[in-house]
Amino acid sequence: MTALDVRSARKDQLIAGETGDWEVIVGLEVHAQVRSKAKLFSGASAEYGGAPNTHVSLVDAAMPGMLPVINKFCVEQAIRTGLGLKAKINERSRFDRKNYFYPDLPQGYQISQFQHPIVGEGEVEIEADGAPVTIRIERLHLEQDAGKSIHDLSPTETFVDLNRAGVALMEIVSRPDMRSAKEAAAYFNKLRSIVRALGTCDGNMEEGSMRADVNVSVRRPGEPFGTRCEIKNVNSVRFMALAIEYEARRQIEILEEGGTIEQETRLFDPDNGETRTMRSKEDAHDYRYFPDPDLLPLVLDKKWIEEIRASLPELPDAKKKRFEQAYGLSAYDAGVLAGDSDAAAYFEAVAKGRDAKLAANWVSQELFGALNKAGLALAQSPVSAEQLGALIDLIADGTINGKIAKDVFARMMETGDDPGAIVEREGLRQVTDTGAIEKAIEDLIAANPDKVAEVKEKPKAFGWWVGQVMKATGGKANPAAVNEILKAKLGVA
Ligand code: MN
Repeated sequence: MTALDVRSARKDQLIAGETGDWEVIVGLEVHAQVRSKAKLFSGASAEYGGAPNTHVSLVDAAMPGMLPVINKFCVEQAIRTGLGLKAKINERSRFDRKNYFYPDLPQGYQISQFQHPIVGEGEVEIEADGAPVTIRIERLHLEQDAGKSIHDLSPTETFVDLNRAGVALMEIVSRPDMRSAKEAAAYFNKLRSIVRALGTCDGNMEEGSMRADVNVSVRRPGEPFGTRCEIKNVNSVRFMALAIEYEARRQIEILEEGGTIEQETRLFDPDNGETRTMRSKEDAHDYRYFPDPDLLPLVLDKKWIEEIRASLPELPDAKKKRFEQAYGLSAYDAGVLAGDSDAAAYFEAVAKGRDAKLAANWVSQELFGALNKAGLALAQSPVSAEQLGALIDLIADGTINGKIAKDVFARMMETGDDPGAIVEREGLRQVTDTGAIEKAIEDLIAANPDKVAEVKEKPKAFGWWVGQVMKATGGKANPAAVNEILKAKLGVA
């Protein structure tokens, strides 16, 4: 037993029951679809969607006599992912048949890896309330996806779509190292950002490219693990957290009433936020695993593994550290920007040669906020990194002030136009002409003698004057000049 086997939840992670505190134990099996054009053992398209049964080869349909041929590209992606998870790559692995019957599985078995997976033990670091926690990876193996049964086209018939049958999946199995729904969500998100950075999976949860089977059990602190239940195919991080919380409470209630937990497979129902029984859990021996006689053992060349290692991109953890050190970003901003490759590239393009903290603010606050509101992904942003950089330059060189910059940015989001063009078209140039500012202030002083008296008594009233001058100049006055001239004219410090 290593130290982590006895990892205990922090006090604030414990769940209070009727008869004392409980600890929730979570392990995840994540299925990540390999970003490959072709399937794992056939040349058919692995593209999402398409008319039913149009991406199906004779191998996928399990026609008699058809033989599977391993897709080398998929093997490479599994190795890349394993290296990204700091895991041991097994130079020798093997494919096994996992036998079960289902209409969407024409072979009658799934080709998977059981005893000898391609990737062994690794780890993923997450942050749990500011503190780093290591979640151990038990293994990563390659396997085929199944087809899809369609029940909703007819009340009496079920249709089968084999487009997905045979698509390559990486099953990434964690150790039961997570101690809350929050940690499970953090782990899943980290895993997603790693595979996206590696380019081995697109991480698109809406299209089912990443789904998780969640193993949940509870125990009294310090006691051995309890019996676990597995919640199948959770396809959103939010649902995962809800499912874990519901499931932990369900188990605690049973145990506190003196009952026992049955090992079973359950489903999460997002409509009512509950998990319910799907089937009693089968054990590995129920699947009658045996080596697939149609496939040779997978033997990897050491040199090839090292070539792949040398080609790995900078991963999110390293990127976050670099953003903190090289750009002076806060841990939070660095995490947000480094967690997604697109966001990181965008930020670095904006920050190049500019004030990096200012760039980080504009990207993570203004841009992400606006994109979120518009329901757009970064890739669909109407404002390019070059354009956002140009906007920051206009603030830096005094062409516009920070307040007007927000208006210009809103226009850029609407129109996709360059900031310089918007500023010229709409006459938004900052007024730095002190004569114009002085004139506006003199007019205000003449019109508001009572306010002049007030500001001398109450320094707080100064804000009113600044507001009035900005209003009189259409918000375009240089704020520093306004402050300086106002103080002089009003005779306040
Ligand atoms: Mn699986």
